[in-house]
Amino acid sequence: MSVVTRFAPSPTGRLHVGNIRTALHNFLFARKEGGAFILRIDDTDRERSTDEFDLAIRDDLEWLGLTADKLVRQSQRFDLYEREFARLKAAGRVYACYETPEELELRRKVLLGRGLPPVYERKPADAPAQEDRPPHWRFRLDHHSPIAWNDLIRGEQKFDPKLLSDPVVRREDGSWLYLLPSVIDDIDLCVTHVVRGEDHVSNSAVQIQMFEALGSKPPLFAHEALLVAAEGKLSKRLGSYGAEHLREEGVEPIALLDVLARIGTSQPVEPIASVEELAESFDFSTFGRAPAHFDPHEVELINARLLHHLDYALVADRLPAGATEQDWLALRGNIERLGDFAGWLAVLHGDVDPPELGHDERLLVKEAAGLAEKIDWSGEPWRALTDELKRSTGKKGRDLFHPLRLALTGRESGPEMAPLVLVMGKEMIVRRLEAAARR
Ligand code: GLU
Repeated sequence: MSVVTRFAPSPTGRLHVGNIRTALHNFLFARKEGGAFILRIDDTDRERSTDEFDLAIRDDLEWLGLTADKLVRQSQRFDLYEREFARLKAAGRVYACYETPEELELRRKVLLGRGLPPVYERKPADAPAQEDRPPHWRFRLDHHSPIAWNDLIRGEQKFDPKLLSDPVVRREDGSWLYLLPSVIDDIDLCVTHVVRGEDHVSNSAVQIQMFEALGSKPPLFAHEALLVAAEGKLSKRLGSYGAEHLREEGVEPIALLDVLARIGTSQPVEPIASVEELAESFDFSTFGRAPAHFDPHEVELINARLLHHLDYALVADRLPAGATEQDWLALRGNIERLGDFAGWLAVLHGDVDPPELGHDERLLVKEAAGLAEKIDWSGEPWRALTDELKRSTGKKGRDLFHPLRLALTGRESGPEMAPLVLVMGKEMIVRRLEAAARR
């Protein structure tokens, strides 16, 4: 059996971290098993779905590197739903209902008032149709045996169908609710694993009966614990924390994926540079049942750690024109986002404003300028320069290094000086030291 997973967003908004995580887990599991990952756009709700969101979702997934092997849109599959619906109707598994929402609500209150579960009460199969109203349609649950499955994350699950309402599958205007088309698609697309949030657990119970009613074996299910913000005050923003935001911030997509792949599991969050590597370690048995805590700060940290060791080949096409491998290696250890690189590149190759130094500091950099002319530039020039300077001035530590850094980079802090000095070269070093001494 070849694994097929699917991610099924509704194009009624942008992707946020919660649904990116679901997409990622579907993607990683399919990759690990050498299977296929399907993107199913759940756009049956024509009022709320938009082409803009449809495009944005695909674009964000592409940016994240979660490219689907196949794309389907529910709005293009209505004929299939119609056919399968007719089969269920003929088999008596869907039936017409005529209650108004007000009538249903009233009945619910009565049941609750009597201390009974507010389960929809079916009319007898031979109850007359009400010709004066268009019907909506419910799926008839089979009450004879419990619904059970072994969830890949939650373990044994069991539902008593008598305690579930027959779900509405189609509205009065003929439009589809989510439950049945999803099952029809999962069967048609040979989906083997349904991986989604635990808010769908009770949907899975009724959908399992739908699979069976349509003559199919249900897929395996994995319901992941929900994602919550690590800090309370973030929780409101979590829904808007998504690819859009991260793209604007210049965060590496893989940094987000590294965090989302592992939070809520027993595996550590690590700066892993490729989705292939993440896929190799993917394992449902490491998933916990408690909510996963998402902290954007963790993404920032992983992002910086990734960049600090990232190979030039993996960023070359995103660096400013002309940036070389040597530039990258000299600067990567000091950037937190790729966007920081350009500023440092200008320090390496452009002009820096000579800093305002005190009297002693000016003398020190003047001395350094003279020494820089004499030292051996073929070995470790930074070391040679600072060793000589220590000897000739008697200064050490911050007194020695800080004025040099200021003179050479125009900044208070930054990357390690030794590789910077190698990239800058003798001429630039002498020029900057002299400029700082003169000021
Ligand atoms: N469109 C549904 C949702 O976003 C899909 C759920 C599923 O994965 O079946 O909740």
